[in-house]
Amino acid sequence: MTAQETMPPFSQLDIAPTAALILGLQLPEQDGRPIDFAVAWGCKNVALIIIDSLGYDLLMWLLPTLENMRALSIAGQLLSITAVSNHTTPAIASILCGLLPEHHGIFDKAGAKESRIKSLPEIAAASGQKCAVIMEQNGADVYQGLIEIVHGIPDSIPSRDFDREACRMTCQALLERPRLLVSYFIGIDKSIHLGLGWEGIREAALLIDRCIGETVGTANDETLFIICGDHPIHAGPLKRTREPYHVAMILARGNAQK
Ligand SMILES: [Zn+2]
Repeated sequence: MTAQETMPPFSQLDIAPTAALILGLQLPEQDGRPIDFAVAWGCKNVALIIIDSLGYDLLMWLLPTLENMRALSIAGQLLSITAVSNHTTPAIASILCGLLPEHHGIFDKAGAKESRIKSLPEIAAASGQKCAVIMEQNGADVYQGLIEIVHGIPDSIPSRDFDREACRMTCQALLERPRLLVSYFIGIDKSIHLGLGWEGIREAALLIDRCIGETVGTANDETLFIICGDHPIHAGPLKRTREPYHVAMILARGNAQK
């Protein structure tokens, strides 16, 4: 029996409550609950890596070729978790605040700018914790002036360049030892939407996997990595046309030599 079968089903809504508990923060409201076994690992910092379109079925198909994510799944835990939305913006908002889309009300980029709902990076920064956010420009703009390290990357550049830049910025930010880091990779999703086929998806995933390896190797074992998808893929044979939507989540610790 796998660990997954013995555990209650988890959701994207559990990510913010888990990170909050590790960081010693209180979320004003939450629809999820902390993932106890991950909290029990005793980490002090959290690195949340969101991979656009990393559905669970897709990761299972890719995993034999993804050296780093496979190793992390074995050293840590790979879970299939419920996705709260089939769209990027509301899903990422739920990941970052622990509320259902109908409770946070953020459905597009404009909504994210106007929202008064506090997300985890803002709550952590307000209580004096060093935070880093690396994501596409519009998403990053929301955090300008609110948290210490903000890097926006234009999503108009080729996705390969975007992910390389995200990787470089993430490793650089981790060297500053933030309590909370949020980073975002787009290559898999872009390959799907550009119709690049399975080879294109695999190539994008291999680049992200190398980035994950570098990133995890930059942080020590006091950092809990939460690597997750925002929604299942939107096209191709692995596309899900109805609920429940599931995405992959890998929980693992950093492995840098202290
Ligand atoms: Zn997405």
